Amino acid sequence: MKQVRTGYGADEIPIREGCFVFPDNEQSRPRLIGTQCRKCGDVVFPKRKLCTLCESDELMEEVFIGEKGTLYTYTIVRAGYPNFETPYILGIVELPDGKDLRVLAQIEDCPLDQVRIGMPLELTIGKIKTDTRTGKTVVGHKYRPVE
Ligand SMILES: [Zn+2]
Repeated sequence: MKQVRTGYGADEIPIREGCFVFPDNEQSRPRLIGTQCRKCGDVVFPKRKLCTLCESDELMEEVFIGEKGTLYTYTIVRAGYPNFETPYILGIVELPDGKDLRVLAQIEDCPLDQVRIGMPLELTIGKIKTDTRTGKTVVGHKYRPVE
């Protein structure tokens, strides 16, 4: 069974606050923090205060989403910024939690020649890059093939 992270390591920092929650225990999964419109039900990620779809003036509600998804499309990044380890797969992941809800994320634990559109994926938290100023590992949401 693959390792489940339940928090940050000593030399890790989040890529952005408020994007995801770690699992409560080793049997559960991390989840993304999105928002849902109280009026039209649209779900978005990253979270937003107001709905741009129906323009309701009611504040959107936080929801936990993104546990599973499918690969909508991808590219293989071979030449990136120096603090990113290349090559890596950058995917657009379609989430079943909302209509036309897609998330940009690195795909890990997947050999480059085995990536395919439509493959089932699960959310994971892992290394995105190395922070150039502090040398710390920047972690964020990523997806990996479902075992
Ligand atoms: Zn709405």
